[in-house]
Amino acid sequence: MSDQQAPGATWWVVSDLDGTLLDHTYRWDAAASTIRWLQQRGIPVIPCTSKTAEEVERFRRAAGLSDPFIVENGGAIHGQNAAGEPWEQALGADHTTLRPQLAELEAQLGEPLRALEDLTEEEGQRLLGLGGADLARAQRRRWSVPFVPPSAPGRQRLPALAASMGLQVVQGNRMGHLLGGNVSKGRALTVLKQRLQAPQARVLALGDSPNDLPLLEVADVAVVVPGAEGPHPGFREALEAQRFLLAPQPHAAGWAAAVRSVLDGKLGP
Ligand SMILES: [Mg+2]
Repeated sequence: MSDQQAPGATWWVVSDLDGTLLDHTYRWDAAASTIRWLQQRGIPVIPCTSKTAEEVERFRRAAGLSDPFIVENGGAIHGQNAAGEPWEQALGADHTTLRPQLAELEAQLGEPLRALEDLTEEEGQRLLGLGGADLARAQRRRWSVPFVPPSAPGRQRLPALAASMGLQVVQGNRMGHLLGGNVSKGRALTVLKQRLQAPQARVLALGDSPNDLPLLEVADVAVVVPGAEGPHPGFREALEAQRFLLAPQPHAAGWAAAVRSVLDGKLGP
């Protein structure tokens, strides 16, 4: 049975969730009508996120989406075949392999690295605004180990330390993420295009944080969604060079405005 293909779509909207489509209270209602507008035109909306599959499945149900998705910073891709059966493809080291490596990284750094899965209910609320079942869904990792970021100098040192262990550390909008060596949002998108036999799909990608850089770099059109304080400073150069566009407002409202301004007129009536 072949995998479900995006029917005739020439554009894919591939989007980070936290800090991009979702604000810091996880609201996205300002983009709801634009998501419907895309779906009516056969444009898939493909979440590409640090979140777990069970978190994304919940978001997809709320948003009325059935398109493929990318989880845990590119650790796995998900979709459904033509019979509607779900599939999952892993793209890197699993959590059982990665988890002990966080302790090793912590020892080398000389600073505590507290794993998301070890946060108490109180810490989950304070650091992530998540509690109860929502926190538990975020804590059941399969392809990555998110952790509370260390000091700014520690953050600077982590990527090289992880690379010396054959691993990677990327920075999301609230957490650091320990990933397998070859895992990224950009590679996951490339594998997804191959799997769905859609090399012709033009990708409009949206992100807010350095962990989105590999996704934005492989996109046909890349949009940086700012936070309340403006865009992440790591994107300054690409924005100044106009390699990336800047959404006109933070989060869902800016997401929707950017999607409309890029695609309006390109999709027909
Ligand atoms: Mg983000």
